[in-house]
Amino acid sequence: MSDNTMRIIDLRGKRLTRAEMLAAMPRAEMGTKEATDLVRPILDDVRDRGAAALRDFEEKFDHVRPEHLRVPAEAMKQALDELDPEVRAAIEESVRRSRAVSASQVPQDFHTDLAPGARVAERWIPIQRVGLYVPGGKAVYPSSVIMNVVPAQTAGVESLAIATPPSKATADGLPDKTILATCAILGVDEVYAVGGAQAIAMFAYGAKGSEPQDGEILCEPVDKITGPGNIFVATAKSMVSGIVGIDAVAGPTEIAIIADKDANPSWVAADLIGQAEHDELAGSVLITDSEDFAKQVQASLDQRVPRTEHAERVATSLTGRQSGIILTDNLDQSIDAANAYAAEHLEIQTADPNAVVPRIKNAGAIFRGPYSPVPLGDYMSGSNHVLPTSSTARFASGLGVHTFMKPVEVIEYDEEGLKALAARINTFAVSEDLPAHGESVLSRFIADPYDKATI
Ligand code: NAD
Repeated sequence: MSDNTMRIIDLRGKRLTRAEMLAAMPRAEMGTKEATDLVRPILDDVRDRGAAALRDFEEKFDHVRPEHLRVPAEAMKQALDELDPEVRAAIEESVRRSRAVSASQVPQDFHTDLAPGARVAERWIPIQRVGLYVPGGKAVYPSSVIMNVVPAQTAGVESLAIATPPSKATADGLPDKTILATCAILGVDEVYAVGGAQAIAMFAYGAKGSEPQDGEILCEPVDKITGPGNIFVATAKSMVSGIVGIDAVAGPTEIAIIADKDANPSWVAADLIGQAEHDELAGSVLITDSEDFAKQVQASLDQRVPRTEHAERVATSLTGRQSGIILTDNLDQSIDAANAYAAEHLEIQTADPNAVVPRIKNAGAIFRGPYSPVPLGDYMSGSNHVLPTSSTARFASGLGVHTFMKPVEVIEYDEEGLKALAARINTFAVSEDLPAHGESVLSRFIADPYDKATI
């Protein structure tokens, strides 16, 4: 048995209940209790001590005490000036495609006329101020800057701030230069060199400055926090949810691939490895009705994993309990398993992927066919790569323009419209023992709504 052998979850010949199917899916053990205990004091301390606490936590967890928690404008400009032109071209391509898709996502206001003088309108209003978290612990994600910022800007968000950890590559306490350059390309100038749970606290509560260059207020609180991150970031987001809005709480990233015997085993292996490269806890799951194909994929993994740059991390991820090969009786059962797993990323590599796509009920994003691999979506398909993980795709969706807007109904009745309903509203109100509700409406049409004889 090689070090890269994925465990087999054999569903063949089994008729599982919904609960059994959900329990059979490979999932990481999430130490949420431990993470909550660790994150609570971080949130409290940042709320109480602002920038001074942020500096302490950066020193503790990122091993640098940033002089500038808010990245100075000169550092942003310098990062842009020094950006490799090839990297800049790739970033700009990604931004272009993302802007094009975002533009089509903008929801339209509408109204419904119910009767003469009776209209309900719906207005989509941008969220005023958002905090975007861009991870930067193990890898750096300039692509996540684009995925957060472009839909927020398209939505018309007035004020947006980015937080991302200081770079490990330099000792200057500033974030990765490509991240800063991407912010500059997108016109974002409020960027903080703060990571982890402390960044989430800063966004939720705001933070007072502690050094002259921070100013009196370092960071104003936001209305909503979006963006992926590790267990500390995800736990902190779920703990401040309610004080601010959040997007889906994202855990470690994951891929599921539905493949049949016609798929290319090397490509499937490469895609599993690509996902595993993110994180030891990343989930890579193959769902196939061909045992032979599964063996070919495993053989390809054995060849490829030792040759990839982050071989150790990949092997840990592939062999973890959150990863595995699910063997099924047929394509129908493969689709059932994929819907139960509800992958953040679902690739479909079957003889006829178009027949499978309409049957998928739960997935963060669906990658149809062998030429739509996940890294295309990670960087520049135009789709968004901030997606729901840990089976939350059952009820949540990825980031988009809608994430940064909220629909508000506008009730537009005139005298005629209200008068037609006044008696019925009064009846309803009385039946709920809230007669003042009825009296409020009746006051507009009769002299004494408290005199039951006149009603
Ligand atoms: P991160 O920025 O999320 O976390 C790094 C921060 O964690 C550090 O700044 C530090 O402050 C904090 N931290 C580290 N150790 C700590 C400890 N022991 N206690 C408290 N805080 C601690 O970066 P990461 O760790 O690389 O994680 C990024 C995650 O985001 C990965 O799981 C990756 O797969 C995921 N991701 C998801 C998407 C998506 O779209 N879903 C996109 C990109 C990345």
